Amino acid sequence: MRVLLLSDIHSNLEGLDACLGVAPSCDKVVNLGDIVGYGASPNEVTERSRKLGGLFVRGNHDKACTGVMGVESFNPVAGLAALWTKQTLNPDHLEFLKNLPKGPLPLDGLPDVQLVHGSPLDEDQYVIVLQDAVEPLMRTTVPLTFFGHTHIQCVFSVKENKLELMRPMYRSKDGTDTYEVKLDRGVRYLVNPGSVGQPRDGDKRAGFAVFDTESYLFTFHRVPYNIKGAQERIVAAKLPDRLATRLNDGR
Ligand code: ZN
Repeated sequence: MRVLLLSDIHSNLEGLDACLGVAPSCDKVVNLGDIVGYGASPNEVTERSRKLGGLFVRGNHDKACTGVMGVESFNPVAGLAALWTKQTLNPDHLEFLKNLPKGPLPLDGLPDVQLVHGSPLDEDQYVIVLQDAVEPLMRTTVPLTFFGHTHIQCVFSVKENKLELMRPMYRSKDGTDTYEVKLDRGVRYLVNPGSVGQPRDGDKRAGFAVFDTESYLFTFHRVPYNIKGAQERIVAAKLPDRLATRLNDGR
């Protein structure tokens, strides 16, 4: 079975469309949360995500944009975008996002895989550096965890108490690109497919991934998208300028 992994779309319709345009045909879709927040197309992106179906876990922005949690922990720009999103979402999409399940969730039929937004221990935890991954890797019993939240494509692993962090190395900085990682069944992993709508690893291209459950091949993808279009929508919606400019920096 081939699984399409999408995360942190953040209301970026142009980014999502570009990813779906190049993604190979998959048997299942997994969405690791933060469907909305930051970007200017919350209704369109929620609509597309619901049509794609599959499995969803909620992200902190999905919670903040639907009133499941307050925006007190957000910086002012993120908080403003969350409030704008709440006002802009149509009631049906708002209800859908409000009811997204909390991770970890199993990937049906695959006891070796679990889905989370932040970490298996805390849905809002950021796992960025090796140190952050120690506890989640040591304390979870599920070998393979797919997570989002940091907007950075990476593979954390632990084998015989040796911890490692690997990031995809692409051939180019523009154009469509892939990077394959063959996962090992005897190793415990935390793997992040990256962010569709607001990458933060200095690469402005939209990110997603595909996992083959038979071969255990994990393929990271990057795809250029209409950044200008996404930026223009943000400006037209009178959302903070920073949300538009950061898309071009990949930060
Ligand atoms: Zn996010």
